Amino acid sequence: MTTATEAVRLTLPDGSVREVTAGTTALEIAESIGPRLAKDAVGAELDGRLVDLRTPLTESGEFKIVTAKSAEAGEFIRHSAEHVLADAVKRLWPEVEIDVGRKDHSEKFQYDFRFSRPFTPDDLERIEEKMNEILGEDHRFERIETTREEAAELFEEMGEHLKVERLQDIPEGETITLYKDGPFVDLCRGPHVQKLSQIGAVKLLEASGVYWKGDESNEMLQRIYGTAFARPKELEAYLAAIEEARALEVHGRLRTRNVRHHGAGFARQEIERLGLHDAGNHVDSLFESVLMELIHQVGDE
Ligand SMILES: [Zn+2]
Repeated sequence: MTTATEAVRLTLPDGSVREVTAGTTALEIAESIGPRLAKDAVGAELDGRLVDLRTPLTESGEFKIVTAKSAEAGEFIRHSAEHVLADAVKRLWPEVEIDVGRKDHSEKFQYDFRFSRPFTPDDLERIEEKMNEILGEDHRFERIETTREEAAELFEEMGEHLKVERLQDIPEGETITLYKDGPFVDLCRGPHVQKLSQIGAVKLLEASGVYWKGDESNEMLQRIYGTAFARPKELEAYLAAIEEARALEVHGRLRTRNVRHHGAGFARQEIERLGLHDAGNHVDSLFESVLMELIHQVGDE
């Protein structure tokens, strides 16, 4: 373990080396490179690992600042949107208890809630609206190191019983950190963006029931999935791609069944069942062509 008096050697993407005191944060390094970079930074990377801008650096290695333009930005953005999701649900239903989010943020984020019923599509719409409202508040993320006892006391006070239990799963000796943005605070290792305005677009995808800790003998929690990007254009491209993949999959499935036997009514039912009729214009037009093809095959009813 490196002590605070030791130096950390960081190799920047241009090959230059910066020597800083251990404990210096990535944000401080970005500031020393330039104010523009510091402003645009959403995170950092050290030897291929994503690092929070506020985490004290204790190891040397290949170092780079991640901005919204970097491919790695999505991980910081989606993890941050995950906290906004939990904040939004708590603001709408203060009695809800929060559990945990997702480990892999390469494509999606998710959060599990102790809620008395499944979330409906209408709920998701309301939550997404609330999330956009919260993004407008543009809170900065704050990283807070704390002790196990303090964290337990805090979440106990907040009535977050699942969090208190989750706290017990953190191995002894590990640094306990909280992340706070505006009124919302969560037990979390990070990393997060600097501030909420760096999350350019969010979309909730679906909700489903899941067993706590994936164990069938545990109670069922309600999970919400979503995704987020730095720019609305990226979100649109992502949604179009998943809709197309889904449409093609259903298309393939319909074709392999005996459509002549089931008839065009079956195709319509299938579309209805999968909720694809309201999945957006892109899918509508894809499905229109599928339907037309099927109707052509069996003759309209
Ligand atoms: Zn988190």
